[in-house]
Amino acid sequence: MKEAQFYEQLDDDKVRCRLCPHNCLIYPGRVGICFVRQNIAGKLYALSYGRISAQHLDPIEKKPLFEFYPGSQIFSVSSIGCSLACPYCQNWELAHPKSRFFKEDPETVIEKTTSKLSPRQAVDTALNYKKMNNIGIAYTFNEPLIWYEYLSDTAKIATENGLKNVVVTNGYLNPKPLMEILPFIDAVNIDIKGFNDNVYKRLGGKLKPVLESAALLKTSCHVEVTNLLVPKMNTDEEEIRSLVNWIADNLGSDTPLHFSRYFPSHKMNVPPTPISVLEKARQLGEERLKHVYLGNV
Ligand code: SF4
Repeated sequence: MKEAQFYEQLDDDKVRCRLCPHNCLIYPGRVGICFVRQNIAGKLYALSYGRISAQHLDPIEKKPLFEFYPGSQIFSVSSIGCSLACPYCQNWELAHPKSRFFKEDPETVIEKTTSKLSPRQAVDTALNYKKMNNIGIAYTFNEPLIWYEYLSDTAKIATENGLKNVVVTNGYLNPKPLMEILPFIDAVNIDIKGFNDNVYKRLGGKLKPVLESAALLKTSCHVEVTNLLVPKMNTDEEEIRSLVNWIADNLGSDTPLHFSRYFPSHKMNVPPTPISVLEKARQLGEERLKHVYLGNV
């Protein structure tokens, strides 16, 4: 673990985390909503620093990034925890490990679900994979922005070694930490989960900070957007049209958009998204955007 960045110390050993828009007030011994930032005796610690839940060499298109070094590979790493609570999460075992280990304290959960990989080791592994067409490191699978300190330290060393840094994220971060890490991020896929606050309310967040992050990211790195289409949640045609218009007007019509098909997972068991809904979404997307893709079909 490592002492966290972006927090305030308050009376009675409480702390206020300022990393993401939840701005959690955390009592001594407790963790924030993301599960991986703990108040220990009045100081906030990043519990998942240097703790890896998965590592693979993947095609860059799997992130998905279709317009950033197509045909290359990317060394992909993850940890645990998430700042949102999507009931259909495909990676819930990593994002919400407490669901499986509900009796254990956070440090024990981390011990049981992860292994150690220092920033230097992550970069050395990525460099070793260069002979297999690896271009860098992707921080992915669970939400990587709550892994901020590790991501930041690793991305800086990766940049010094000529590697690219890719972040696959829900975009739920406050502007100050995002600004500080921007120079070290080369590409992102940001998941905009719906285009109204009711959708985000069901996921335990808000839409506005996600849009602000997307716009800020677009000022300095390659951005692609994913929208997972979930029946009865975000498949309304007007809502899809609003998302497409927002991307075209704020990120540019050259921004790739991936409509992805939902399958039942975690706490949600409504049937998979009909292909006809994805086809309609693609048609709406192509009215304003140059690159629209369907995923999981
Ligand atoms: S990063 Fe975690 S602890 Fe910090 S505000 Fe967000 S959810 Fe809360």
